Amino acid sequence: MSYQHQYIDGTRIHFPLGKVVCIGRNYAEHAKELNNPVPTEPLLFIKPGSCVVGLDGGFSIPDDRGSVHYEAEIAVLIGKPLSRTPNEEEVLDAISGFAPALDLTLRDVQSKLKDKGHPWEIAKSFDGACVLAPFVPGDTVADLTAIGIRLTINGEVRQDGSSAEMIFPIVPVIQEMAGHFNLQPGDVILTGTPAGVGPLNKGDELVLDLVGHSSFASRVL
Ligand code: ZN
Repeated sequence: MSYQHQYIDGTRIHFPLGKVVCIGRNYAEHAKELNNPVPTEPLLFIKPGSCVVGLDGGFSIPDDRGSVHYEAEIAVLIGKPLSRTPNEEEVLDAISGFAPALDLTLRDVQSKLKDKGHPWEIAKSFDGACVLAPFVPGDTVADLTAIGIRLTINGEVRQDGSSAEMIFPIVPVIQEMAGHFNLQPGDVILTGTPAGVGPLNKGDELVLDLVGHSSFASRVL
């Protein structure tokens, strides 16, 4: 079944699925756990819309390309065009929703690419590499600097972070992104992952929470 943006009440969001603009190493503890330097400017990359799948009902992971790591992240749905470094009000006005998401990463492949200084696409943009939950409407989240993101696997909390811990907070990140790439309705922003990343395995049972806003159960098929 092809992916379609939707709200948690099941309402379809009639934006086309666009690109997914991501920031890496946006939580200091996560940068450290992978022995990466804490960045002084945002590290941006893009996952194509073709890699997006829904969280509902479970999702598949590649089984022949080394370890597949989960990265739980706060996703932001863009609902209005943004370009040329918009101001804060323009960014806030353009946010249509928030959801928890998984930025799946072929970690062994990525490590080799990083060693060679090569682009990350084959580790980050494979089919199924972005798992999106349904969105809560943007205006239901009052404080963008205190959104919790939590991932529980097989009953154990693996990641538990907050946008309060981001090196580059949500609004400045979107301003920066829009300065490089024009953002269109239906594009999605992934805002980085807190510490605790690790491998996923077939049969894992997941609960992904946008803490206080939405909670979803899923599994690795
Ligand atoms: Zn990520």
